[in-house]
Amino acid sequence: SLPPFDHQPRPYTGISGEEILHKRRTYLGPSLFHYYQNPLNIVEGKMQYLYDEDGKRYLDCFAGIVTVSCGHCHPDVVKAVVQQTELLQHATTIYLHHAIAEFAEALASKMPGNLKVVYFVNSGTEANELATLMARLYTGNLGMVALRNAYHGGSAGTIGLTGLQTWKYPIPQGEIHHVMNPDPYRGPFGSDAASYAKEVEEHITYGSSGNIAGFIAETFQGVGGAVELAPGYLKLIYDIVRKAGGVCIADEVQSGFGRTGSHYWGFQTQDVVPDIVTMAKGIGNGLPLGAVVTTPEIAQVMSQKIQFNTFGGNPVCSAGGLAVLNVIDKEKRQEHCADVGSHLVERLKALQQKHEIIGDVRGRGLMLGVELVTDRKVKTPAKAETGELFEKLKDLGVLVGKGGLHGNVFRIKPPMCFTKADADFLVDAMDYAMSGL
Ligand code: PMP
Repeated sequence: SLPPFDHQPRPYTGISGEEILHKRRTYLGPSLFHYYQNPLNIVEGKMQYLYDEDGKRYLDCFAGIVTVSCGHCHPDVVKAVVQQTELLQHATTIYLHHAIAEFAEALASKMPGNLKVVYFVNSGTEANELATLMARLYTGNLGMVALRNAYHGGSAGTIGLTGLQTWKYPIPQGEIHHVMNPDPYRGPFGSDAASYAKEVEEHITYGSSGNIAGFIAETFQGVGGAVELAPGYLKLIYDIVRKAGGVCIADEVQSGFGRTGSHYWGFQTQDVVPDIVTMAKGIGNGLPLGAVVTTPEIAQVMSQKIQFNTFGGNPVCSAGGLAVLNVIDKEKRQEHCADVGSHLVERLKALQQKHEIIGDVRGRGLMLGVELVTDRKVKTPAKAETGELFEKLKDLGVLVGKGGLHGNVFRIKPPMCFTKADADFLVDAMDYAMSGL
C-alpha cells in the first residue's frame, strides 16, 4: 500500500463522478482529451496526494500537469491566498498594489543576467503570445524558429509555434520554421548537437530572408514526451539565432522553479541566458498565473502602445506566487528534487534492466520520462501497452502523465515534495503492472 500519510480527507458530499461526466459532456463541449477510461473524480488534494470521491488516496506523479510545484494545498500558499482574498481580490494594474510589485521583484531576483522586467499574464499560452510579440516588435522581423514536437500553447498565435499535429488546426500560422528537435533517443542525429544546429542554419538560409524574429524552445519538451534536449544544443542555436538578428526565448512553463534539481531554470542546464523567458504552471502552484521576463531593452518596445492585462498580476495570484517562491527556498525544494530524482532515476534504470518494454529512462530531478517500446532495436512505440499500464497504475493508486507523439511516454513530474518512499512505491507499482503484461 501507499506510504503512510497523515491526512484525513473530508467526506465528499458533491455530485457523483458519473453526473459530472454527464454535465461535462453536455455543457463543456466534446473533447478528445480523456485521460482514463473511467475519468477520476478528484475531490481533495494534500501535498503529493489526491483523493477521489470515495476517499481513496492516489500518489500524484504528474502534479496536475506539472503545475502543483510545492504540493496540493500547501499550507503556506493557502494562507497567503486566503489572507489576500479576504483583503482585496482584484485591483488592476491601473492602481498600485504591493503584492504585484513584491512578487515581480522576487521573481526578477531569481533570474540570471539582465532579465529584470516582468509582465504578468494568466497562462503559458498568453506568456508565449506576448513573448512572440515582443520578439517581433524588437527585431522588426516576423520569422520564428520552433522545435518539432514542441508545445507552446493552443491560441491562434501559439498553435503556430506548437510542433505537434495533435494540437493544430488549419489556420494561418505566421512564418514559423519547425526544426528538428534534438531528441537524443529518437532524433536522427542522436545527441550530436552540431548536426541539429546545422539544420537550423539551413532553415534560416533557405527558408527565410536571413533575418528572423526569434527562436523558442522548451529545454525539456513536456507534452512532446519528456525529451531533454541534446547537451550543448541551446548554446549553438542561440549563437545562430542572434547572428540572424533574432532573440532567444526559453519556455520554462514546465521546467522552471528548481524542478530539474540541478538548476532553478531549465535553460541553465544548457548554460545559456535567454533574452525572454516565459513561465506558468508551477509559478502559482495551481493558481492561474503566467509571466514573461525580459531585459529592459526588449521591454522598451512594449511602451509603444498600452500594455494591459486585466487579471495579470492579480493580488491573490501574486500573493500565492510569492508564497511559492518562498516555499521553494525555505524547504530547499531544488535540492530535494535533485536528491529524490537521482534515487528515482537509479531505480527506474534498474527496472529497465528487468522489463524489455522500457526503451528509455530520461530527464533529471523530478522532470522524468520513461519511454515504452515493443522492440528496443527499432523503438516501436508501445502505444496500447502504455495505455494498459496507465490504467493499471491508476488502480494501484498511482497517477502518472502520458506524452509523446505516440502517447507511449510516461511523464513523471510530481509535486516537488515527493519523497524517496513515494518514488519506491511508484517503481514497485510499475514493476508489478509490467510483470502482468
Ligand atoms: N508551454 C509549455 C511548455 C506547456 O507545457 C504548456 C501547457 N501544457 C504551455 C506552454 C501552455 O500553457 P497553458 O496551458 O497554461 O496555456
